Amino acid sequence: QAKAAGRNAIHFFDPSIHAAIEARFRLEAEFRAALDNNELVLFYQAQVNRRGEPCGAEALIRWQHPARGLLGPAAFINMAEETGLIAPMGDTVLRTACHQLSLWGEQAEADTLSLAVNISARQFHQPDFVNRILTIVDETGANPRLLKLELTESLILTDLDDSVTKMRALRAAGIRFAMDDFGTGYSSLAYLSRLPFDEVKIDQAFIRQAQLDTEGADRSIVEAIIGLTHSLGMRVVAEGVETPVQREFLLSRRCDVFQGYLFSHPEPVTAFEQTLEALRKACTMHSIAGGKQD
Ligand code: C2E
Ligand code: MG
Ligand code: MG
Ligand code: MG
Repeated sequence: QAKAAGRNAIHFFDPSIHAAIEARFRLEAEFRAALDNNELVLFYQAQVNRRGEPCGAEALIRWQHPARGLLGPAAFINMAEETGLIAPMGDTVLRTACHQLSLWGEQAEADTLSLAVNISARQFHQPDFVNRILTIVDETGANPRLLKLELTESLILTDLDDSVTKMRALRAAGIRFAMDDFGTGYSSLAYLSRLPFDEVKIDQAFIRQAQLDTEGADRSIVEAIIGLTHSLGMRVVAEGVETPVQREFLLSRRCDVFQGYLFSHPEPVTAFEQTLEALRKACTMHSIAGGKQD
């Protein structure tokens, strides 16, 4: 017992734990400031259809930290969830994304592009989530039919009834839904059929595996997800497509939409708009050269 107490005492004064606690408080304080100082930015990653034409984008948050440089969501999303700062962050993300959609709505080259926005559990389960979204769409003048909300399985399962109610209300306004990271959670095929999703995004873990054509087990999972999704009348998006081999495999299995470094990295809006143009040009050249049409 004395030994245990001694161990605890040592842990209590462990300088590395002390440093970790301090770092966490600093991160939270800095993130609060970031929300006020507009340090949060959206990067955009293109999604392409079977012909390689850009058909949409996913908005991915970044934090332009004054001292630490550009930070990805892994550095702050968990903290934002735990502290509740995900709610104001989510509003900022949605407002920025919808504003961008309305700007693209005025450009002939971008006015049919859909924009997917990631929604966190705590944000989605706010009682006034539906009205917040509708207000932002209304105020920014975004076309709700081009807005897509990405939800995860675990988020849906936190409260299935509440999720379905909210999804139906938003769908009535034209907003669409994608099931993100499919295959990583419970993946109950039974409830997927009862949820009003428009598309399913196969998690990149499976796409990465689909590279290996050894035993074919991982390829079978991808095939099964695509078959199931299509049988439910939903589109399939493959995330994390990095190689031509992966693209060819997915094309042969009738995947609808492709997203990954093979086509574009997430980029600030100006660079993203140039990527759109480059993707379109490559696509035109491909079809003139008699490339695959379907
Ligand atoms: P996600 O929604 O599954 O987003 C896809 C992630 O895969 C992004 O990471 C993207 O940069 C990365 N990615 C895209 N193509 C490739 C590829 O070919 N190879 C590899 N290895 N990775 C690829 P990112 O931007 O770091 O975002 C990570 C996660 O953070 C997202 O996963 C999403 O769950 C969350 N997130 C991002 N932005 C937001 C946001 O605005 N709100 C909320 N609530 N969550 C966000
Ligand atoms: Mg996503
Ligand atoms: Mg995903
Ligand atoms: Mg993911």
